[in-house]
Amino acid sequence: MSTTVTMEKIVNLAKRRGFVFQSSEIYGGFGSTWDYGPLGIELKRNIRESWWRYMITSRDHIVGIESAILMHPRVWEASGHVAGFSDPLVDCKKCKARFRADHVAQAQCPEKPSKHPGECGGELTEARQFNLMFKTFVGPVEEDASVAFLRPETAQGMFVNFLNVLQSGRQKPPFGIAQIGKSFRNEITPGNFIFRTREFEQMEMEFFVKPGRDDEWFEFWRTERMRWYTEHLGIKAEHLRFHHYAPDELAHYAKACSDIEYEYPFGWSELEGVANRTDFDLKRHAEYSGKDLSFYDEETKERFVPYVIEPAVGVDRILLILMLDAYDEDVAEGETRAVLRFKPCVAPVKAAVFPLLRKDGQPEKAREIYTLLKQRWTVQYDQAGSIGRRYRRQDEIGTPFGITVDHQTMADNTVTLRDRDSMQQERVPIDRLVDELQRRIEG
Ligand code: ATP
Repeated sequence: MSTTVTMEKIVNLAKRRGFVFQSSEIYGGFGSTWDYGPLGIELKRNIRESWWRYMITSRDHIVGIESAILMHPRVWEASGHVAGFSDPLVDCKKCKARFRADHVAQAQCPEKPSKHPGECGGELTEARQFNLMFKTFVGPVEEDASVAFLRPETAQGMFVNFLNVLQSGRQKPPFGIAQIGKSFRNEITPGNFIFRTREFEQMEMEFFVKPGRDDEWFEFWRTERMRWYTEHLGIKAEHLRFHHYAPDELAHYAKACSDIEYEYPFGWSELEGVANRTDFDLKRHAEYSGKDLSFYDEETKERFVPYVIEPAVGVDRILLILMLDAYDEDVAEGETRAVLRFKPCVAPVKAAVFPLLRKDGQPEKAREIYTLLKQRWTVQYDQAGSIGRRYRRQDEIGTPFGITVDHQTMADNTVTLRDRDSMQQERVPIDRLVDELQRRIEG
């Protein structure tokens, strides 16, 4: 029987074991903001590294950048965010709570949680548009001329650097520019833990192609992105699906869009968006900046403004689905254990080293092995409590391998290597341990 995973179990585990904490908790927390703890940042780092290798370093013609979070305010006029990056907002006249008008059907009344807003006896106001960009002021004077925005997406950083990358990197379409970084949206209804927050981290890639080739590249990236989740992160295929947008669902600049959706405990919802953004962004920035953002192909003597295919996803959402997808409960050595069945390459801790006994030179030997492995991977050393307890602690954070030093180690320089999922143990000579782990983690 498969384990039922709930958001509550994941939120509790995340806090208890140091993946995710409520932000500013000692002050009572700060609405929908979260801090990542020691294990959370390791997991995030593995997500970023896997994405970066898969999207950039393993391919030709895709390069990375890191653009500033604060950008020229004209960028957001050109991109359409100042005029149109808004959600419809409604207020309940009775309890004053605010909801996204298009989410009312899934929302709960805060006073009568079994009812949807507006069905609880409270009347909702007419919807009005609410811009999601965080506004701030640059310099000491709070006046219109000094207004700046925290970026609501990383994508515009790639568009405004299109010429720089083209010229400095001698690129030609098809080529891509990618970045990972924080984005900010003043969401009306954040929630579901780290699923929707006001500050989050995005990984986006803008792939510039010749108009006319965009449909095939759109298909290419849809397939590639789905493959990353199943083959590289080990997400179960039955928990993922595409939602292809009907023409009336598309953003005004998009020719096609497919979301990759995940089956969260609260239902199917977006994980990543893959969009054909056409030449909208480059044309708008050309218009607003006065710079020519077309590409001249020396070989074919053609000039064109590239179309853009964009896979865009949030790191935080991936971290959430990794925990949800990996969570399991089973019976180990007569007791129920919670286990995160992370693929070894994404697991925050790759191995834990234990002396069976705290005597006979075993702790010293175990520390020696721990120090050796630490040079390559994130590993832990644990000598506290029974060996069963120590295994359980590692299972719960998803450590795939346990290495135990026992009396036989002292005689023949072998250790036991325990597999988290099968709980099988085999003896491995210490001088083969690094190769063996490398094969299992990276292989
Ligand atoms: P939604 O319709 O759910 O508000 P969106 O379609 O506006 O999302 P995009 O602009 O396509 O989202 O952003 C790309 C990705 O960035 C999303 O698929 C998601 O993974 C992530 N993301 C967007 N907004 C948030 C948020 N508020 N919190 C966490 N991650 C987010």
